[in-house]
Amino acid sequence: MQESWKYVSRQHQPDDTVVQIASVFIGSGEPVIIAGPCAVESEEQIVETALAVKEAGAHLLRGGAFKPRTSPYDFQGLGAKGLELLARAKEATGLGIVTEVLDPADVPLVAEYADMLQIGSRNMYNYPLLRAVGQQEKPVLLKRGMSATLYEFLMSAEYILAEGNPNVVLCERGIRGFSDFTRNTLDLSIVPAVKQYSHLPIVVDPSHGTGRPEYIEPMSLAALAAGADGIMVEVHPRPHRALSDADQALTLTQFQEMMKKIHSFLEWRRSYGHSYLEHP
Ligand code: PEP
Ligand code: MN
Repeated sequence: MQESWKYVSRQHQPDDTVVQIASVFIGSGEPVIIAGPCAVESEEQIVETALAVKEAGAHLLRGGAFKPRTSPYDFQGLGAKGLELLARAKEATGLGIVTEVLDPADVPLVAEYADMLQIGSRNMYNYPLLRAVGQQEKPVLLKRGMSATLYEFLMSAEYILAEGNPNVVLCERGIRGFSDFTRNTLDLSIVPAVKQYSHLPIVVDPSHGTGRPEYIEPMSLAALAAGADGIMVEVHPRPHRALSDADQALTLTQFQEMMKKIHSFLEWRRSYGHSYLEHP
């Protein structure tokens, strides 16, 4: 399978890619924490969340303005208004913004506000959209399709790199399985596999990966132990009132508590040394 990859393969580029998003580097060895609500709902909600996650140690703010919802009758996001609210949260905190783009026609607008464009799981196979984000300069967070193989995942990244944008970060967000206790099955084994075959950084999203707030902390720590370059987690000031993914959001306090554990884990790892994370 390696023969069909070109730009994404480790053979093409032996050194790890480091992607700069605003003033943050993903893939540099220090894990990056991306946190925020599933969807931007109001100025109060996004600014309150941004201030709290920044205080707890997050490096980037996430929040969807354009939401890919299973039901056409569910909240679809605030659209352009949501992007403006993200800009206010950025002004208030200095945090760089990660937000999803659904439509190739919206890429220029979203790229005006976003520091990193998210391609959601449902769009990992949307080749015109991959091409469109490949033709602009903002970094891209490419989420794994919910039934995508490693080959397909890296081939989707290849579309973006082949168009001339080298700044791609992959994101494992769980795959469809038969599990009846989680929303998806978080496939952490793809982290070392990506490191083996590609130079691109990979972060893990334990929120969509488990769908259960109580599993997010253990799976975040496990992701970092497996060598992930960061985690992306959904946080909401009032999860029970969230307009999307209410069941999986951490409260601000739960996020703070998790960040304390992450900080002690990273401190221990620094004292231990990074050698056990050498690529397979
Ligand atoms: C999200 O990040 O809110 C999202 C829609 O994720 P996914 O594309 O992984 O389902
Ligand atoms: Mn979500």
